[in-house]
Amino acid sequence: MSTYLVSGGAGYIGSHVAAALLDGGHRVVVVDNLQQGHAEAVPEGAEFVRADVGDAAAMDAVFASWGFQGVIHLAALSVVGDSMRDPLHYIAKNVGNTMTLARAAMRGGCSRFVLSSTAAVYGDPACAPITEDEPTAPASAYGASKLMAEQGLAWASELHGLRWASLRYFNAAGADPAGQRGEDHAPETHLIPLAIDAALGRRAPLTVFGDDYPTPDGTCLRDYVHVTDLADAHLRVLGLLAEGTGRSFNLGNGRGFSVKEVIGAVAEVTGCPVPHRLGVRRPGDPPALVAASDRLRAATGWRPRFGALHAMVETAYRWRLKNPEGYAGTRHVPPPPAQRDTAGALQLDSAELSG
Ligand code: UDP
Repeated sequence: MSTYLVSGGAGYIGSHVAAALLDGGHRVVVVDNLQQGHAEAVPEGAEFVRADVGDAAAMDAVFASWGFQGVIHLAALSVVGDSMRDPLHYIAKNVGNTMTLARAAMRGGCSRFVLSSTAAVYGDPACAPITEDEPTAPASAYGASKLMAEQGLAWASELHGLRWASLRYFNAAGADPAGQRGEDHAPETHLIPLAIDAALGRRAPLTVFGDDYPTPDGTCLRDYVHVTDLADAHLRVLGLLAEGTGRSFNLGNGRGFSVKEVIGAVAEVTGCPVPHRLGVRRPGDPPALVAASDRLRAATGWRPRFGALHAMVETAYRWRLKNPEGYAGTRHVPPPPAQRDTAGALQLDSAELSG
């Protein structure tokens, strides 16, 4: 049994990662400032520390309290549009927090570090599917911030022996098949949850952001990858880092689905038409983002188990039906106390920390 720190483990992807680690028989400490995450999303069995990963003293205390075999760092600002309104804030937070956490990990004797990264590092790629050899050219400050964070970790690897890897997610989708956790963003901006809510009549008709792209049906193609498969990839990469250092890996199914195909799948799964109307293109949307994940597959044996669009929509729908108000409607489970009074005591102030 190993002990892993999961930053952002109260968020959509992080909570699935934490649950997968627990299912794998590991101990998990979730660190999250709850600015975007939900305490109720932290899986039962995980220890929870409410703190900001940018707080070096708090992170030192966390590392002093547990001996970690690895860190999975997901806590970040991740709304592309916001990053274009305040790029310096995004870069300062996403890069600075990653460096702070990695430094605390090294000081704490933990040498395995997995960064949650993004397909946005490629910007508007010339080819599909995209391999990791595609030049990185972020089209947003968010993508740039993740690329810079990767570069910082590469330096730490080169100069200090940090074993790191980044997983460049394409479009995370779906929910835990058991229906215990799922997507709950405020505001929600992602296609699948918006389409499901539109079908259920819980929100205004969906706006399709443009149908004049150079794609088969004119709407954008995205590579949706089930969040359970994403979580599995993290466990495999941690295993890889036990042997030596890693690198950047694309994480997607290798198949693109158009906005219209997603609308069709949501209508089929819910049994309701998805009210929608055509809108203008959303700035910064590339026509197609499809991953070649051969590097990850070859290195770790990773294979998607829920690669069908139907499975992604179906699990997301099940979560939504069970939790129409998201986590707000679930029983509040108070997080277990993080403070300890042993030597190397945690002195975490759970007051709002900037994020
Ligand atoms: N999209 C859309 N209407 C919406 C939200 C998204 O047409 O209300 C499109 C968006 O332009 C993109 C795809 O759906 O082509 C997936 O968008 P999402 O925001 O879910 O993920 P992203 O690709 O931006 O990470």
